[in-house]
Amino acid sequence: MAEKYIYFFGGGKADGDTHLRDLLGGKGANLAEMINMGIPVPPGFTISTKMCFTYYKNNRKLPESLHDEIKENMAKVEAVKKMKFGDPSRPLLVSVRSGAPVSMPGMMDTVLNLGLNSETVEGMSKLFKNESFVLDSYRRFIQMFGNVVMDIEHRNFESILEKIKRKKNIIFDNELQTQDLKEIVNQYLDVFKDQTGQEFPSDPYKQLELSIGAVFGSWYNKRAVTYRKLNRIPDDMGTAVNVQAMVFGNLNNNSATGVAFTRDPATGENVFYGEYLINAQGEDVVAGIRTPNPINKAQEDHTDLPSLEEEMPEIYHQLIEIYKTLERRYKEMQDLEFTIEDGKLYLLQTRTGKRTAQAALRIAVEMVSEGLKNKDEAILSLDPEQLDQLLHPMLDPSENYEVVARGLPASPGAAMGKIVFTAEEAEAAALTGVKVVLVREETSPEDIGGMDAAQGILTAKGGMTSHAAVVARGMGKCCVAGCSEIRIEGERLYFITTDKVLERGDVISLNGSTGEVIIGEVKLMTPKLSDHFAIVMGWTDKFRRLGVRANADAPKDAGQALGFGAEGIGLCRTEHMFFGDERLPLVRAMILASGDEERNRAVEKLMPFQQKDFEELFRVMDGLPVTIRLLDPPLHEFIPHEDREFEDLAQELDIPVERLKRSARGLQESNPMLGHRGCRLGITFPVIYRMQARAVFSAAVKLLKEGLTILPEVMIPLVGHVNEFVTLKALVIEEADKIIGSAGVACAYKVGTMIEIPRAALTADQIGAESQFFSFGTNDLTQMGFGLSRDDMGNFLPDYLKQGIFALDPFQVLDREGIGQLVEIGVEKGRQANPELKIGICGEHGGDAQSIDFFHNAGLDYVSCSPFRVPIARLAAARSALLEKKEAREA
Ligand code: PEP
Ligand code: MG
Repeated sequence: MAEKYIYFFGGGKADGDTHLRDLLGGKGANLAEMINMGIPVPPGFTISTKMCFTYYKNNRKLPESLHDEIKENMAKVEAVKKMKFGDPSRPLLVSVRSGAPVSMPGMMDTVLNLGLNSETVEGMSKLFKNESFVLDSYRRFIQMFGNVVMDIEHRNFESILEKIKRKKNIIFDNELQTQDLKEIVNQYLDVFKDQTGQEFPSDPYKQLELSIGAVFGSWYNKRAVTYRKLNRIPDDMGTAVNVQAMVFGNLNNNSATGVAFTRDPATGENVFYGEYLINAQGEDVVAGIRTPNPINKAQEDHTDLPSLEEEMPEIYHQLIEIYKTLERRYKEMQDLEFTIEDGKLYLLQTRTGKRTAQAALRIAVEMVSEGLKNKDEAILSLDPEQLDQLLHPMLDPSENYEVVARGLPASPGAAMGKIVFTAEEAEAAALTGVKVVLVREETSPEDIGGMDAAQGILTAKGGMTSHAAVVARGMGKCCVAGCSEIRIEGERLYFITTDKVLERGDVISLNGSTGEVIIGEVKLMTPKLSDHFAIVMGWTDKFRRLGVRANADAPKDAGQALGFGAEGIGLCRTEHMFFGDERLPLVRAMILASGDEERNRAVEKLMPFQQKDFEELFRVMDGLPVTIRLLDPPLHEFIPHEDREFEDLAQELDIPVERLKRSARGLQESNPMLGHRGCRLGITFPVIYRMQARAVFSAAVKLLKEGLTILPEVMIPLVGHVNEFVTLKALVIEEADKIIGSAGVACAYKVGTMIEIPRAALTADQIGAESQFFSFGTNDLTQMGFGLSRDDMGNFLPDYLKQGIFALDPFQVLDREGIGQLVEIGVEKGRQANPELKIGICGEHGGDAQSIDFFHNAGLDYVSCSPFRVPIARLAAARSALLEKKEAREA
């Protein structure tokens, strides 16, 4: 038997139902389900998503075999409607709409009123005894068909309509008289011919075939492709096409069309909420040409217009019954489309309604207390990534603003301030209370103070794991990174795609959630965390198996992380402690020292600072584990760049400038990411690691003596060979035991390693036998596994993403197929050698919901992420555990 591509719905029965979403798309599956529930829905049929790719493979043509299947199903629609497609005496008209398995509102195409031609127009006018309504439907059809199928721009039609309305002194389309409409239709048909060189097709089946093809074709239109990219929707899903009998909201004044939400999508409040227009078709509500009326009386305070509740009370109550049934069925807030044709109500669509993060939480909590769903279902209904909206100041979405450039949405939230081009300026401005945005080619560790002082950061280079992005996310600070549409020259900021130029001190705004750059001020909103947020977070902790820790180096960030529910620090990057004003000269002296003696002197001076840092961090994290990573970055990152800085340092160290510069040159590397960094520093400069270990344990024993519970975990970075780890572990243990022994207190500490070099993952059995814990450094693991330099990928990664060579940025979402294997091998081999091994992840992927699902399934013990992503990780981890439970139940 030939494969079934078409699913009929109508007359109270449907071939499909809500479970066939992948095949029928959301719209098709829900139309079928509504029919099965006895809700009034015009009959029709859905052509499955499978046909979408058949269409593409068949050179954008529908296969012959489909035509018969279409005709068979059209006959069933005709039987229910008692009308006939293309029959002049009782013509059936249909709509052709897209419908993908995930909702992509407004991204693909639609054709309405299909089946009209000069003959059916005449027949239908008689049938409905309303010629102007039929002509109005016809002119809409010509325009939609012309635009969707033949790519004729809307303005070609709209200018004609406007001209006639002006001539007749008419404001609204529905005031047009029959004669005007006849003229419009004739002119539209001429436009069609002028633009395409063909007559407008009069055969309804030809119209249908071309429209179905065009709607399948809209899967790859630019809007849809961009939307999928932004929302991480895979391209291989395809859309279904729904062909459905038309019902007419524009038939007369006893007809209408509208949209409604079963709860308020902005706040989540449990009120029916919506808008409708009398004597109109669906597109009129969406296009906002006329101000729509409110659905119920409660909404009327916003407008003087009469509500549906007053105008058509029976229909209103029928709608209320339907929405309640739908909410009970789907256990979700629904977004409905309805049409009233001459006093009879039809539902044209129901789908899960889009909502703000705040509304999502409120709806989840209230649906649980209403008994509509249980907590498992509530957690599964939430999108972890969406919580991000709640945790940072954001641009007021009701504001209009002009976007002048776009970069990567590196760290969400919003920022507004005067442009500064250096970190020093940012810090100076903050001291005087001036709000600034730091604009740089790319930031470096030295800029950290300026980044902290700025409202937000804009960089021209770098990706999602560039320094600016990582640090900004850690601070919960808005950042737009890798914005290739800007150029910085001296104290000027050029916007390449426009001719705009800004100078130091001009005001700029950033939307870190979208990557938008805006000239001037935009209104900001500070979202307040609701009780609903706290309730949901409480639930997540009961369900999840993964622990959630934070990446934090400073007590302030650690406190923030604790407030969001972090259960420890999974990564303290100690190098971030080297950049304070008093420390940098000491760090530089340590690095540029010419001999051991000179180096030891500098190290000794640095030690009290490090100890104090650790004390403060341990104090905040009392009772919780703190993973401290020993120095990781290449040393040249700390050396001076400017002559003036070299001169100052030379004076301070009392050595010649030339000698300093020679030492600095000696530290330069061609591939610093693969160079002298991580544990390699510990091997060649053991004094540095020894000092750090002493600082850690001196701080720990001091606080232990005060009665605090300190759980230090010392972590060795960039290990690729077990011998590196064995050597440095011995060094750390030697220092730890000396200090703990002489203090006479018990201190339960661990020594472990990062797994961030592919060889470490492959030899995880050898390393695991020696190590107490692993923490996957998936930033470096991705860099080295892919052979993609974190510093240089900005030159080509955008092309890879644009061309679809990579579906997603592998530094943002873990590449399961490749790098994921390294993680799985590391876990398996590590646990084989050491069943007690604790395993976490501290790369940027630790805060990404999709990647967290992978880590859950890989059997990790915890994820560690930037403080502001802790709630997202808690929710994502709970969802993964619940999904696992659900799959086990279903299996
Ligand atoms: C990593 O490589 O994943 C990591 C956490 O370390 P860093 O980003 O500091 O190299
Ligand atoms: Mg690393």
